[in-house]
Amino acid sequence: MLLAHRIRIDPNPAQRDYFARAAGTARRVWNWALAEWNRELASGQRPDAMALKKRFNAIKYSDPDWLDADGNPWLRTIHRDAHAQPFANLARAWHRYVEHRRTGRPAKPPRFKKKGRCREAFYVANDKLRLEGAAVVLPKVGRIPLRETLRWPGRIMGANVSREADHWFIALQVEVPDGVARQRPGGNGVVGVDLGVTSAATLSSGEKIAAPRPLKAALRRLRIRSRRLSRKLEAAKAVAGIAGRIRAGTRLPVSKNRVCGARALARLHARIARVRANFTHQLTTRLCRENRAIAIEELNVRGMLANARLARAIADVGFYEFRRQLTYKAARYGTMIVLADRWYPSSKLCSACNARHGTLALCERAWTCRSCGTHHDRDVNAAINLQRLATGALAAQPALPVASRAVTPGAAASLGPAAVGEVTPVRHEHGQQDGSGQEENAAHLYTRFR
Ligand SMILES: [Zn+2]
Repeated sequence: MLLAHRIRIDPNPAQRDYFARAAGTARRVWNWALAEWNRELASGQRPDAMALKKRFNAIKYSDPDWLDADGNPWLRTIHRDAHAQPFANLARAWHRYVEHRRTGRPAKPPRFKKKGRCREAFYVANDKLRLEGAAVVLPKVGRIPLRETLRWPGRIMGANVSREADHWFIALQVEVPDGVARQRPGGNGVVGVDLGVTSAATLSSGEKIAAPRPLKAALRRLRIRSRRLSRKLEAAKAVAGIAGRIRAGTRLPVSKNRVCGARALARLHARIARVRANFTHQLTTRLCRENRAIAIEELNVRGMLANARLARAIADVGFYEFRRQLTYKAARYGTMIVLADRWYPSSKLCSACNARHGTLALCERAWTCRSCGTHHDRDVNAAINLQRLATGALAAQPALPVASRAVTPGAAASLGPAAVGEVTPVRHEHGQQDGSGQEENAAHLYTRFR
């Protein structure tokens, strides 16, 4: 099984400089390849990533676009993997786009990457790096201390170096022997999880799990820092004599003050992401450990409806991250994941008598069933209904082809090599086209109740 361990690294200033240039190169090559791809597509050809790479290799040391001011090919200063990998990433991104469209999932074609807006990252192949105790040796830059040692034994398959606010990380992709990667599921439970608005998650057992507390304080700080940064931007606009929107292509002078503000904001964003990820990791591990089957809703529909602006955006990211972690951990623990269709009225069905409650406003946190008179906590009731789906799916497992593909200890072995590419979050690029599309491993069990 392929697993990734993302470790913070401590590069020196020269190494940081190289990382920034390598990531910039990867971005530029991606944009070149995407432009060519789009051009070929528009002229009716069938673009091919390998052919594009060949063309790029033919021009990369000679084309004026890829020479520095003195006419020297600057690409020679960047290790080859950084400018070869974007082609493979682009092919994968297009493949995923086509696949999502085919299966009716929301999809956007790959987009150009913009400096400062995209994730800074580049790839290093496994034959070009090695571990030396608590350090990693990378081509062109040498030894870089690691903040922790690699968690898993096994063959290193590749690495991705990326920046998050002020820090650099290396995600080492390791082929871990199945015996090591597979965990014994501890519990025999079946659980429905309602990801909510008021509490982060409600379990069918009635347990409500609150979002981590530091987040609230951090969100307040986030608003403050965002406001400070936007004031600095307004000031810069005033100096430049711009009122209203900044026209495309306009470059405002960048002050040290504004850079500092942006950095402070980025650090806080990164910290919030870490706090959330940690919370989600603990919750998903616990759920996979304790249960044989877990049912969640396919989309965070209620989260989408309920929260406005910032909180909403963060809640959405949280939902996809939750699902991503649950999916790859389920493969390790042999847990079955059941996704309830977005039309499944989990909160409107009475979990006691199965009667359907007509309409339920979002603010109604509790309701009484008209048929049987049971008083329901809205979230717990929804979680119990989801649990039912999981129980049903588990019972139907041998009969249903979709569900039986879906895992559990015995069947898990068959998930083996074919699933490997998707199991691992090598690239932590949530919501981006070249992220790791883990969904492929989930047991997609769609149930439609209308
Ligand atoms: Zn009822």
